[in-house]
Amino acid sequence: MIARAQAPIGVFGGTFDPIHYGHLRTGYELLKTLELGEVRYLPCAEPPHRGRPLAPGKLRLEMVSAALAGQPGLVADDRELRRGGPSYSVVTLIDMRREFPDCPLCLIVGMDAFLGFPAWHRWRELFELAHVIVARRPGWAAEIPALLKAELENRETGDAGDLHRAKAGFIYIHTVTQLEISSTAIRKMSATGGEPRFLVPDSVCEIIKQSGCYTGPSTTKGKAFD
Ligand code: ATP
Repeated sequence: MIARAQAPIGVFGGTFDPIHYGHLRTGYELLKTLELGEVRYLPCAEPPHRGRPLAPGKLRLEMVSAALAGQPGLVADDRELRRGGPSYSVVTLIDMRREFPDCPLCLIVGMDAFLGFPAWHRWRELFELAHVIVARRPGWAAEIPALLKAELENRETGDAGDLHRAKAGFIYIHTVTQLEISSTAIRKMSATGGEPRFLVPDSVCEIIKQSGCYTGPSTTKGKAFD
């Protein structure tokens, strides 16, 4: 049991187009293992580093909320959709820091996203605002860019207690269960008449089916929060 004042909040951003069991299991394992107070799932409006999501923001949020329903500690957060525009993590964390001035914040990213950090908007400020938890899939190994290596040397910890004692600044790498599920594969499967049953919660499967969000050509457009 880790002694603490205010348990850290996990900040898990993504397109979640759609959310699936890989995203859910990662958040759940981090919540439990690191004794986080909660993990917030934040569907983005416009992802800065990739193409626009296929499903509209409102529907992606609906799927996230449905997937998390009934699971204490996992929470949907719609602030990036309400803000609109490019969903820069630094802006999101500034907003959250204002709302939770005394609470440790933990930005949760996959290893692939972490390796791309030096291209992120105002990336060095992220460490002033939050800890970074890197969810590493087993067996994953890659060359770490020099700029990040320096940050890792200064900031990496293997002690989860550090995430509770300080409000920001540590990097913690955590190995999570590998579930070979991808949103891209789910969208493709749905577009060709398949059902992503057992890859996503039944409630999400139903929303995909009822809305037809990955089948009709009209759904390739769609505003961030319409
Ligand atoms: P897409 O196939 O559309 O690129 P994605 O899941 O890779 O989907 P996001 O929804 O933006 O994209 O992912 C949010 C976060 O979830 C990212 O940090 C990503 O590394 C992580 N993630 C994606 N797939 C899995 C998985 N199967 N298990 C654990 N984490 C995952």
